[in-house]
Amino acid sequence: MKNPDGNKSRREIEILKLFFRVYCSNIHSDRKRDKVTGLGLLKGYDLSGIFLCAECKKEFIYSVTKLVLCPYDPKPSCKKCPLICYSDEHRIFMKKMMRFSGKHLIMHGRFDLLFRYFF
Ligand code: SF4
Ligand SMILES: [Zn+2]
Repeated sequence: MKNPDGNKSRREIEILKLFFRVYCSNIHSDRKRDKVTGLGLLKGYDLSGIFLCAECKKEFIYSVTKLVLCPYDPKPSCKKCPLICYSDEHRIFMKKMMRFSGKHLIMHGRFDLLFRYFF
C-alpha cells in the first residue's frame, strides 16, 4: 500500500509546482522569492524551476512531503481521503491557492498547461 516514488508522485509534484508558481508570482509579487531546493526526504525530487516567497515555500515543501509520504497507492483525492494527513491551516491555504491558480490559468487561456498536467 506504500506509495512508490514513481511517476505518479512526480507528476503531482509538477502540478504543485505549476500552481504554486502562478499563485506566488501573482499574489506575492512584492515579496522576496527564492529558489526551492529539496533536502532530506525530498532530495531525489526535481523541485527546480520555481522561486517562492517564504510562506509559499513552507507550504510547498509541506505539500510535497505529504505527497511523497502518502501511504495510499493508488492515492485517492486528498478531499476524499479517510486519513487526512495534513493540518486544517494547510488545507485552507491549498484551497485558496489552487482556486486562484486554476482560475488564473483558465482566464489566461492556459488550457494547454492544465491539460498537460491533468490528463
Ligand atoms: S490526505 Fe490522504 S491521500 Fe492526501 S496525501 Fe494525505 S494520506 Fe495521502
Ligand atoms: Zn508566495
